[in-house]
Amino acid sequence: MSLSRRDFLTSSAALAAIGAVSRRDLIAAWQGQPQAAAAVFTPIRRNVGFFTMRGGTIGYMINAGGVAVVDSQFPAEATACLNGLKERAGGQTVDVLLNSHHHGDHSGGNISFRGATKKVVAHAKAAEHMKNPPGAQPPADQLFPDATFTDSWTADLGDERIRAKHYGVAHTSGDAVITFERANIAHMGDLMFNQRHPVVDRAAGASLRNWMRVLDATVKDHANDTIYIFGHANANLPVTGSAADLTKFRDYIGAVLQFVEAQHKAGKSKEEILAMNAPLAGFEGFGQFGATGAREIRTCAYEEITTGR
Ligand SMILES: [Zn+2]
Repeated sequence: MSLSRRDFLTSSAALAAIGAVSRRDLIAAWQGQPQAAAAVFTPIRRNVGFFTMRGGTIGYMINAGGVAVVDSQFPAEATACLNGLKERAGGQTVDVLLNSHHHGDHSGGNISFRGATKKVVAHAKAAEHMKNPPGAQPPADQLFPDATFTDSWTADLGDERIRAKHYGVAHTSGDAVITFERANIAHMGDLMFNQRHPVVDRAAGASLRNWMRVLDATVKDHANDTIYIFGHANANLPVTGSAADLTKFRDYIGAVLQFVEAQHKAGKSKEEILAMNAPLAGFEGFGQFGATGAREIRTCAYEEITTGR
């Protein structure tokens, strides 16, 4: 029986934390991980939907004026996604592929879009990190972004307006929220882990404190009834949701920072803090707090608290 992706993330985070394997090995193992996941297209509203198979959730839009895709999972999954999009789009090619950030489970499939998309768009930092991922091996061959932005990027496609916006450093230093304005749907990439301990890429410029601000700014910048697509979700939880889910995740990050700070002030060492297993009060749905997946966020919290940045 193969590991679920969640178990894999959980056990791999534990291995990384004890220094048993490098981040690069983890990513390689994760990418090669066998998993019998089905390709599923789920329409949301007004020509926008999401695709799930393996890796971060892909967003898509198909209308009479064009096709847009957000993120690309891994090569085989991207090919499955492209084939399904071609069927649904009646032969239209992809006008734009956007990457929410550089991580391999969101951009590794870009290569499958070579010759199949007119354009690849990402934040300048995401594009830089795709070519030279901090703590990981550069990809041997990849379709890199050919259009980058530092603040925002907007384009009209048929009757839809697509906006990619960077709200500041958070999960990495190059995250973008991609909004389909008329459909009122926003793809969050890994700015959103639905009730699940997140990956926090401090080597690539992540900041927990600023991540909270980014979530607040995103909610303020969108309508009350915007539907958000999440990069990942805990087992049996949806990969779409509302502003309330973003706020809950922001509060969880704040609670982790508070918890780690209180333990540090009480004289606990980093290893002692990381060894505490009880789920965080009020955030039990995120799961056991100490054992595995929560080590990375607490390590990052500890470093932010002790270094002041
Ligand atoms: Zn990520």
